[in-house]
Amino acid sequence: MTEEERTKLKEIIQEHILKVEADIKELNELVKPVSLDASIGRISRMDAINNKSINEDALRKTQKRLQKLENIITIADTKEFGKCVRCGSEIPFGRLEFMPESRSCVKCARR
Ligand SMILES: [Zn+2]
Repeated sequence: MTEEERTKLKEIIQEHILKVEADIKELNELVKPVSLDASIGRISRMDAINNKSINEDALRKTQKRLQKLENIITIADTKEFGKCVRCGSEIPFGRLEFMPESRSCVKCARR
């Protein structure tokens, strides 16, 4: 990886972190307890509960992604960054650009 690519990727990681943090904020709003207010009918209350569990799932996944992104930013200046943790080969720039938290190459990720 060139220094230029590293700098670019660090910017991309920061952008991803900001986006993921915004998503988490939004999801946190959506998973607030469902009101048992009698003004909403039984069906819509069930809908609200269903959506809530979908959103809770999304929230968990998004929080995990944020953790990965925060981990990756701490190693962004080391030799480890951009290398596959399993086989040691360089992870293609395009993959890192799309998913900067990747720690393995496409081949190993598929295994
Ligand atoms: Zn690999």
